Amino acid sequence: MSFDSLGLNPQLVAALRDLGIDTPTSVQSAAIPQALAGHDLMVSSQTGSGKTAAFMLPALQRLSHRAGAGGRGVQVLVLTPTRELAMQVADAARSYGKQIDGLRIATVVGGMPYGAQIKSLSRRVDVLVATPGRLIDHLQARRVNLSTVQTLVLDEADRMLDMGFIEDIETIVRSTPDERQTLLFSATLDGTVAHLAANLMHDPKRIEI
Ligand code: AMP
Repeated sequence: MSFDSLGLNPQLVAALRDLGIDTPTSVQSAAIPQALAGHDLMVSSQTGSGKTAAFMLPALQRLSHRAGAGGRGVQVLVLTPTRELAMQVADAARSYGKQIDGLRIATVVGGMPYGAQIKSLSRRVDVLVATPGRLIDHLQARRVNLSTVQTLVLDEADRMLDMGFIEDIETIVRSTPDERQTLLFSATLDGTVAHLAANLMHDPKRIEI
């Protein structure tokens, strides 16, 4: 199995090759074709399984022909439970997207000064990686507009719910278009995660690795 046979474009495959990544993991083989086909996905996955690439590569492919043009607003929004995970996801987006001209990635997380975040939000952003509480602050202050989001990713959704982010997540989701694609990754897919998914996803495909 190769990344190219999963339907990824040559730009992304080349970026992966530069990172020494040639063979998809099981979560990547299962999720990437379905995500590229436009489905909503709920995926059970652990850290270390390659889940970040499983959502970031299809999300980048969706925007790659548009990034750099300017003025379109946030196209990919990734919500994570913690600052550390947000930083890792943003780093992954930078590595996987390094052949995409003009790609702009911003990170908006709690526990960090507002100044730099406000500045980065005042410029064009293609991929926004955020923790829910801080993103709500910026949304309420109208520093960010989510009406152009095409792909919404909920990373480690079970942890976000455990941390009490449910209302923030619902508010954020309501600020994105109904026609978005939603990709949810979580250690478990039952209980409150299933309830959240039922509220915000359209006919999701379940992938359990
Ligand atoms: P994640 O599960 O997304 O936190 O990824 C764990 C680590 O695996 C990261 O350091 C990735 O760079 C790496 N990785 C992701 N996909 C692959 C792959 N297909 N082959 C080898 N390493 C990978």
